[in-house]
Amino acid sequence: MKQLRNTKQRQTVLNAVLGRKDHPTADRLYLDLRAENPNLSRGTVYRNLNILAEGKEIKQLKTSGADRFDWRLEPHDHIMCTNCGALFDSPLPYKEELDNLIEEYTGFKINLHRTVFEGLCPDCIRRLQSQD
Ligand SMILES: [Zn+2]
Ligand SMILES: [Zn+2]
Repeated sequence: MKQLRNTKQRQTVLNAVLGRKDHPTADRLYLDLRAENPNLSRGTVYRNLNILAEGKEIKQLKTSGADRFDWRLEPHDHIMCTNCGALFDSPLPYKEELDNLIEEYTGFKINLHRTVFEGLCPDCIRRLQSQD
């Protein structure tokens, strides 16, 4: 029975990541999930996120803030607002040429690069300007 419960909890966590496009933090996911699943503990959510990321069902994103979780598995770049923490996919296509260039320059065998563009999102710019 315990095994069955574990599988069900993992599916709940997985669906929560797949169901949103905002690259939530583990804490954000936990708070949202708890609203509908009062029995779900923070430890369970964190543990399942790690298992899912290790199993490559979701992607864990290192940023300058808390780690984020991503449903999109293929390599892509991100844009992050350093003021409100909003994180979006970059609209530009992933540049494999960069990986090839680095291989040429360094002799490394590059698998991928992860780029996070950091700055202020349009909402924050508007909010900051209206405060003047
Ligand atoms: Zn912002
Ligand atoms: Zn993404």
